[in-house]
Amino acid sequence: MIIPDLMNAMVLEGVGQQLVYKQLPVPQPSENQLLVKVMACGVCRTDLHIIDGELKSAKIPLVPGHEIIGRIIKIGNKVKDLKEGSIVGIPWLGYTCGNCKYCIAGKENLCENAKFTGYTIDGGYAEYIVANAQFCFPLSSKLQAFTKAPLLCAGLIGYRSYRKINDDAKHIGLYGFGAAAHILIQVANYQGKDIYAFTRDGDLLTQQFALKLGAKWSGGSSEKSPVKLDAAIIFAPVGELVVRALENLDKGGVVICGGIHMSEIPSFPYHLLWEERGLQTVANLTRQDARDFLNLAAQIDITTDTKFYPLHQANEAILELRVGKILGAAVLLMS
Ligand SMILES: [Zn+2]
Ligand SMILES: [Zn+2]
Repeated sequence: MIIPDLMNAMVLEGVGQQLVYKQLPVPQPSENQLLVKVMACGVCRTDLHIIDGELKSAKIPLVPGHEIIGRIIKIGNKVKDLKEGSIVGIPWLGYTCGNCKYCIAGKENLCENAKFTGYTIDGGYAEYIVANAQFCFPLSSKLQAFTKAPLLCAGLIGYRSYRKINDDAKHIGLYGFGAAAHILIQVANYQGKDIYAFTRDGDLLTQQFALKLGAKWSGGSSEKSPVKLDAAIIFAPVGELVVRALENLDKGGVVICGGIHMSEIPSFPYHLLWEERGLQTVANLTRQDARDFLNLAAQIDITTDTKFYPLHQANEAILELRVGKILGAAVLLMS
């Protein structure tokens, strides 16, 4: 395949600015990297937090995007196990050091020297990307469609959040029913759980969407749950939801915060946490999370509801995600 010198990309040139559609040199893979021709890249809420400057470590200028499906077109000299022509998924976790105490303890999601795709290294809002081969995942034939791009973050982070819950939890609340929740509910249904979907108050469209996907109940986030919840996962970046979820939580239950950023959590009375209720966050992912989830996603044939945009309309996709106009997930397609 002929590799051009230049590629189209959407670039963040300054915090708080619109992305700029421009040409950049096609990057060259080093000996342990792949050059991947991007097919599709999901738009994740984390991208909004990066663009808005709520996450402080972004490389600028930056190509955002960390839910990437693409085809390998060139491999570095030292890459084994992966071949040109194969289709891979590229997630948020782009590098870990392997030497820090977290890596050694098997918690590479907490690595002190980690690099993140579309945040501290360039991501997938572009026609090509270089990625560290050890952080790319070959996709089975069932996962190679454009529609599967959101599995690479919304799916993975949702799954890591879900695995923090006790296996015997039956009644699970999801606060924020967007990309992550609409994937996770399929895993939960498969495992016989009952899902209670909490959306923005009055967002009947999303509430119906949740019911269509098999939620036991759906309603506004200020509503009382019809049963006490064994666990709740919060995907929306709204601190007040932590309190709302605790109010609906049964004794011994847990609230998991799946997002990378959240507005301030209001103070709340101790009795909401008393009786061994727990509150935990989820940070990043490990490569084992990715392998486990992608296997499961292929096995149960997870589907996604996606709205597609051409690369140069990334700003429109971001705006629609910001105002809650997207049911499911937004995905950029490269030409
Ligand atoms: Zn490390
Ligand atoms: Zn993400």
